[in-house]
Amino acid sequence: MFHHFYDDIHPKGQGAISEKEFESILDYYQKNYNLLRANDWLLKAKARSLSERDVCITFDDCLKCQFDVAFPVLEKRNLTAFWFVYSSVLEGGAEVLEVYRYFRTVCYKDDIEDFYKDFFPFLYQSENSELIKEGLKGFIPEDYLKSQGFYSRNDRIFRYLRDRVLGKDLYNNSMDLFIELKGFNREEVLDLLWMDNENLKTLKSLDHIVGLHSHSHPTCIANLSYEKQKEEYRKNYNYLKDLLGVVPETVAHPCGSYNEDTLEVLKSLGVNIGFRANMSFPDRGGLEFPREDHINVLRRIEGENNSFYQQPY
Ligand SMILES: [Zn+2]
Repeated sequence: MFHHFYDDIHPKGQGAISEKEFESILDYYQKNYNLLRANDWLLKAKARSLSERDVCITFDDCLKCQFDVAFPVLEKRNLTAFWFVYSSVLEGGAEVLEVYRYFRTVCYKDDIEDFYKDFFPFLYQSENSELIKEGLKGFIPEDYLKSQGFYSRNDRIFRYLRDRVLGKDLYNNSMDLFIELKGFNREEVLDLLWMDNENLKTLKSLDHIVGLHSHSHPTCIANLSYEKQKEEYRKNYNYLKDLLGVVPETVAHPCGSYNEDTLEVLKSLGVNIGFRANMSFPDRGGLEFPREDHINVLRRIEGENNSFYQQPY
């Protein structure tokens, strides 16, 4: 499971890898596993004939850095991959989490901890200070998002405040204020962040598989009602079907979030193959295939001295 890449144009954010690191991950999988082209993997998955060593490559979030950095490498190796795309950004929308991440990357280049040192006091003094004080009562960072071993203590506090205490609207308002305070121009970065329709058509024409990832990429889609979830996936499904002329058959759960309603919604759309965002429980197949984060793979390859840790957002 790949997210961010960096090169001369795309800045090196937390968890981003280079072309060279991508190559070394592919080398590792080609040496130790059966690294399959996306279509071959999908056929086997549908026939339930995957062996333990059969693996595939997936990219989440429709990111331009993936197209610019990773796609040419795949072409060179005659490999294809799954690209899980949330469609709101293709309709000219901006998914603010990605903008915020970019902001953190360019304004706090050296250490994400510097961002936390700035942002936490800002939050604690904001109009939400009471809510935050309440929300953090009894909270034990080490117990939150335990399966994501690479998160720092502050990564966990940040995500907890964002996803559980503030929620989407209050968090976004806070970040918007904070970004403005720092003089960051968000309009300038939109084209750099996401692929466009033409990029996706190129991928499709070369036998890559474009799959669902919800329309607006909620951080916790499982918290939404059945109807809201259905709307998220139906919009996403219709957009990709109209753009590419094929029916989407696969999904990656955004931020790994799903529940029984999600699975029902997906099945009603004829989507039966899907991916989680971690390896926390054994392969269940169907709509719950596990995925290994590229940072964990790099760590395995390069040893524990590696200073990377993943941070999709
Ligand atoms: Zn995602």
